[in-house]
Amino acid sequence: MRSEQFASIKALLERVFANSPFYRRKFGEAGLTAESIKSPEDFLKIPYSDKEELRLAYPLGLLSVDQDEIIRIHSSSGTTGSPVIIPYTRQDVEDWTEMFARCYEIAGITKKDVIQITPGYGLWTAGIGFQAGAEKLGAMAVPMGPGNTEKQLQMMIDLKSTVLCATSSYALLLSEEVERRGIKDKIHLKKGVIGSERWGDLMRKRIREGLDIELFDIYGLTEIYGPGIAIDCEHHKGMHFFDDFLYFEIIDCNTGEVLPDGEFGELVVTTLRKEGAPLVRYRTHDLTRIIPEKCPCGRSYPMIDRIIGRTDDMVKVKGVNIYPGQVDSILKDIPGVSSEYQIVIDHRNGKDTLTLRVEKEPDCDRSDLDSMIMDCFKKKIGIKIHVEPVAFGQLPRSEKKSKRVLDYRVK
Ligand code: ZN
Repeated sequence: MRSEQFASIKALLERVFANSPFYRRKFGEAGLTAESIKSPEDFLKIPYSDKEELRLAYPLGLLSVDQDEIIRIHSSSGTTGSPVIIPYTRQDVEDWTEMFARCYEIAGITKKDVIQITPGYGLWTAGIGFQAGAEKLGAMAVPMGPGNTEKQLQMMIDLKSTVLCATSSYALLLSEEVERRGIKDKIHLKKGVIGSERWGDLMRKRIREGLDIELFDIYGLTEIYGPGIAIDCEHHKGMHFFDDFLYFEIIDCNTGEVLPDGEFGELVVTTLRKEGAPLVRYRTHDLTRIIPEKCPCGRSYPMIDRIIGRTDDMVKVKGVNIYPGQVDSILKDIPGVSSEYQIVIDHRNGKDTLTLRVEKEPDCDRSDLDSMIMDCFKKKIGIKIHVEPVAFGQLPRSEKKSKRVLDYRVK
């Protein structure tokens, strides 16, 4: 933590102790006062905040300023229970817009570009964030919102859109539609800014080739402004994030211990400047790592890695945390393996065992596939596993998310 970041955190704590009923109660229960946090080491004593608690503050319990300072709210979808409502001051909206404009700049997008925005507008933060950033940059925004593919493609052709903002699934749909209609030569897209759930390399390749564009991962969540708090640059080595607005930590999601740079774990975010609903040590449940190396682009903003999954997807075997995203990334480099796999965990003779079932590509006749995968797994994840190659098509397919992990251990 840099000294100016700690100074921002001190000021943030004073603000939330004075004005946020949510944090006053939470920190009061933990026996903390704003004065008790004197050093970056003391900061580590502050308990994490979680989405469940934010839900309990519905509707406006997170408010940390007078309500007449609020100019807008957004809300994160509640699949279960109450949604979380995040109030924004004018400054919050400007700060978010500033970060978003930086994202576009980092992706090499300029005021000459025509930016077609397909994420939704409304309570959700997506569309309006893409829009505000584009306007600040001075580019021409085409605020389509989602769906209506017919009109979407018409506008894309007639207005010569050069940038597509979309989720990965909608970008894929558009690219398949462009291909099906044979209109690729009428499309002027150069770049795609994709804010999304975790998406694999295969999908990236199909979108990149289908639309002939360079892809940029943009990251964010409604509780922390929205999308636009991190993006990859032209080197695609990781996503730069804005450490003058946000403080990032990576923790072991089981023990809560802060992990050193370079190790994968759960991203925890503290908002350094947010006014309407500041958050202190907020658990995102997204899994990534802080990349210790400097980016060749020379920008001073540090980087996180691509999001490799959610904490709910993680399993612990023989004391090691394993995420399906890591298995994806090991298998994609092994020739002859299809994209489908299953992780089977059991407990036998007092020991955890992990069996990885992998499908062979139809034309694969390698006999050393299992030992090759075992070696890679040992090298990259650090544990010995069993590998069971099966014929192509043997593992179940699912319309929705495939179930990758079968854990038969008695809890
Ligand atoms: Zn860079």
